Amino acid sequence: MPGASFVTHLQAAIDGTVLPARTIQTTHQSRPLWVRYDLDAVSRAVTRADLPDRPPTLWRYRELLPVDDDSCIVSLGEGMTPLIDCPRLASSLGIDRLLIKDESQLPTGSFKSRGMAVAVSMAKQLGIQRVAVPTAGNAGGALAAYAARAGMECWVFMPADTPEVNKAESRLFGAHTFQVDGLITDCARVVQLGRERMGWFDMSTLKEPYRIEGKKTMGLELAEQMNWSLPGVILYPTGGGTGLIGMWKAFAELGAIGWLESDRRPRMFACQSSTCAPIPDAFDAGLRFAHPPDNPRTIASGLRVPNAVGDFMILDAVRESGGRAMAADEHRLLEWMRLVCETEGIALCPESAACIGVLERALRDGTIAASETAVVFNTGAAQKYTELIRTDLPTLDPDHLDFDALAGS
Ligand SMILES: *Cc1c(COP(=O)(O)O)cnc(C)c1O
Repeated sequence: MPGASFVTHLQAAIDGTVLPARTIQTTHQSRPLWVRYDLDAVSRAVTRADLPDRPPTLWRYRELLPVDDDSCIVSLGEGMTPLIDCPRLASSLGIDRLLIKDESQLPTGSFKSRGMAVAVSMAKQLGIQRVAVPTAGNAGGALAAYAARAGMECWVFMPADTPEVNKAESRLFGAHTFQVDGLITDCARVVQLGRERMGWFDMSTLKEPYRIEGKKTMGLELAEQMNWSLPGVILYPTGGGTGLIGMWKAFAELGAIGWLESDRRPRMFACQSSTCAPIPDAFDAGLRFAHPPDNPRTIASGLRVPNAVGDFMILDAVRESGGRAMAADEHRLLEWMRLVCETEGIALCPESAACIGVLERALRDGTIAASETAVVFNTGAAQKYTELIRTDLPTLDPDHLDFDALAGS
């Protein structure tokens, strides 16, 4: 097949069971699957020097992606987000060098588009025509947009307290969109129960193998943008964990094909909110699997994931890297969001505000040294959280202007 991928097989993350690729697969023992490649063949097929001539989208890493047939690629030009040096923010936090990888500039304003671009392309290749997803945030809009682009039917189920923009965008992109009376787990149950009768393919986080491969490209891009020398520390706002798991996989694959300048890997910090912190709790308790917290709430909708099916994959990656899972104070998320918006002009989402909180704490208690280079992922656009950023502006009467009062405001 022209443009055939280098995928050899899929592999169950929980016990290593090998499953065939190029056929519809979901999970094994209700746990996620890895996509495995012939990395020797990849290293013979492409070199670092080939990249600069390729388009600035995540498809430039074609040989490390699972799509066999180029005509199945569903793209909105996603990828190559800027890696922005933040000297003013760094000095206010007390670290020498801080970079933000700004994923808010992707289609539909969040990094969910990376995962969905690859997952929808694979769904197309596998002949799937009707996709469904439970979501409390950005996943619904991203899936709806890529499904529209692919000419696929899309169904989205959200809890009532999902941010307004997320509800609206899903409808706007033509998905059958429903509010469900209950939590995200109830939305997941709707998809599960309707699968057979409705012919839905479940695109939930880590319940199909390819969203990780899309999110993996954050790690590939970061490596390329840093000239194949990775930073000391990565802080990542962790919900289901696909991004963190995907990046750790990216670094392993780049190491295996010999593209990295050294064997040193970043320490991975999984960041959550103090009011929904199953991963930090499991990390501190030395557990491999997380327990759902009692009353999971947070204004950071992308982090409201009480029950991650890839919990052990997140915890394994964090521990292997020598990093940590930490929670930031829920009550200060808005403050950190404003700090980054005001000092650097970057539209930081509340999820990534948790990374700033964790960084502040880790610098204070010595977990992260001021001399390390840190990269924070801004996974979504602040503007999508209208309920959080809404503000009443003072009104001016142009016929009765008082500039003395203005100057003092
Ligand atoms: C989904 C989401 C997250 C969590 O992503 P995972 O990779 O599943 O951990 C973080 N931030 C935003 C803005 C999100 O939409």
